[in-house]
Amino acid sequence: MQQRVRKIVIVGGGTAGWMAATTIARLSKGVGFDIELVESMEIGTVGVGEATIPPISEFNRSMQIDENDFMRATQASIKLGIEFVDWTRHDHSYIHPFGWYGVPMHGIYFHHFWLRHLAQGGTIPADAFCSNIMACRQNRFGKLQPDDRLPIPPLAYAYHFDAGLYALYLRKLAEADGVKRTEGKIVSVQQDGESGFIESVTLEDGRVVAGDLFIDCSGFRGLLIEQTLHAGYEDWSHWLPCDRAMAVPCERTATTTPYTRSTAREAGWQWRIPLQHRTGNGYVYCSEFMSDDEAASKLLERLDGKALGTPRPLRFKGGRRKVVWKKNVLSVGLASGFLEPLESTSIHLIQSMCARFVFMFPGDGFNPATIDRFNRLAREELEEIRDLLVLHYTATERDDTPFWRHCRAIKKPESLAQAWEMYESSGDIIIEGGVLFKEPSWFAIMHGQGLKPRSYHPFANIPSDAELQRRFDLMAGDVLKRVATFPTHDEWIRANCPAPPLAMKAM
Ligand SMILES: Cc1cc2nc3c(=O)[nH]c(=O)nc-3n(C[C@H](O)[C@H](O)[C@H](O)COP(=O)(O)OP(=O)(O)OC[C@H]3O[C@@H](n4cnc5c(N)ncnc54)[C@H](O)[C@@H]3O)c2cc1C
Repeated sequence: MQQRVRKIVIVGGGTAGWMAATTIARLSKGVGFDIELVESMEIGTVGVGEATIPPISEFNRSMQIDENDFMRATQASIKLGIEFVDWTRHDHSYIHPFGWYGVPMHGIYFHHFWLRHLAQGGTIPADAFCSNIMACRQNRFGKLQPDDRLPIPPLAYAYHFDAGLYALYLRKLAEADGVKRTEGKIVSVQQDGESGFIESVTLEDGRVVAGDLFIDCSGFRGLLIEQTLHAGYEDWSHWLPCDRAMAVPCERTATTTPYTRSTAREAGWQWRIPLQHRTGNGYVYCSEFMSDDEAASKLLERLDGKALGTPRPLRFKGGRRKVVWKKNVLSVGLASGFLEPLESTSIHLIQSMCARFVFMFPGDGFNPATIDRFNRLAREELEEIRDLLVLHYTATERDDTPFWRHCRAIKKPESLAQAWEMYESSGDIIIEGGVLFKEPSWFAIMHGQGLKPRSYHPFANIPSDAELQRRFDLMAGDVLKRVATFPTHDEWIRANCPAPPLAMKAM
């Protein structure tokens, strides 16, 4: 256990590998680690993972990444939220925004006041109080002007980007910080006979790469954490039945929408991710209810531009690695577990795992208590996201296909059942410290998926009817005023970060 870390080996050069390399290299400058990343072009990367969530701006800030430069280099667009189409029922859509609804009053969340408004027969939709949603609906984006005095918060946003270009962008940063890249396929792994710690990996051509600490970013295969250390996998497919995806890009449309779209389909759902040079698409489905050929042909039928290639199949099992850190191996990215991309959380999990690892870095050795705590935090983080995903599938009126009837019968995790019951009985959304998804996310999805609270917080009755109406008019008016000052999303991109034209290759 007492093994001072000097040499760090990162296995894999996808988004996880290069994010880990950039984070550790940039934040550890001055410590003098020797960092080597091994990747195999022959194996390649998963090639998807193009929608993100707002904490990615913290990553950019801490890595000193210039936003415009990064957006140009990765053909990126802005993401203000996700539109969920046909999830609740056919011909229905709602947006899960990244920003807040209204402002909290009398010490409680805004949504309680809106529930009162509804209970009194009011008809103003909750969306009217959220600038992110209104900006999505009008395809606008902008940042606060220095003289902006409106009391509503600025737009919270993330990005859509080209996964391949993103890995390349991070690679340049990491290499500039001294990370050594080694191209080659790992064919065997050597362990210490007594402790089981990984000592080195051997490449196909016989080269040996030794290290003190190994970061397994080898994707679904989990080369070190699973194939070598047998950490174990907890299968969550009884909660999240989708296990396949078909992915294909298509030509871009005239308008670059500032949000991801997720459309519920007969046996899963379809994503649409608008980038500057193309649109990314995929059908996530459950193999028990749909064949690969059918998924591919349904996806191609439903693109809004000409397909740029043939659909590429991907297989996965929703769940988590039982321990993400074992001995001297930390698994990051797909090697650490996978939750389908319904809420675009995987890249965030890479970011948060790397940040936490830096924080809990093994200094003089690998302390079992630190490793246990790390694994517990990773589990809790994933369970919260899992609950939000299961909510989408189980709070639905849809029963029009065997897949949706199967979803409606899913027995919810206890933690979700509790959150659901609290919201339905009293409109309460209780957010614990440190969780990723805050009140507006839970409200957007619970309300959007059709859950109806029987009551609301008693403090929401404090303002008189006239006073509540006055505040509502003011807030909804401010949202409209704010959004009207923003340029369209395309105008904003043209003014700030237009990407160079790229020759489009088929996938
Ligand atoms: C269908 C789908 C859609 C997704 N959409 C999103 C999304 O919208 N948003 C989001 O946040 N996330 C999304 N994700 C997740 C996201 O794609 C991943 O989290 C992200 O790409 C990180 O992948 P990775 O680097 O862990 O693995 P990979 O990209 O698979 O990289 C693995 C690396 O390991 C290397 N490797 C493997 N074996 C060896 C070996 N023997 N020798 C040498 N090198 C080896 C490979 O060459 C490669 O470089 C999606 C995932 C799927 C499956």
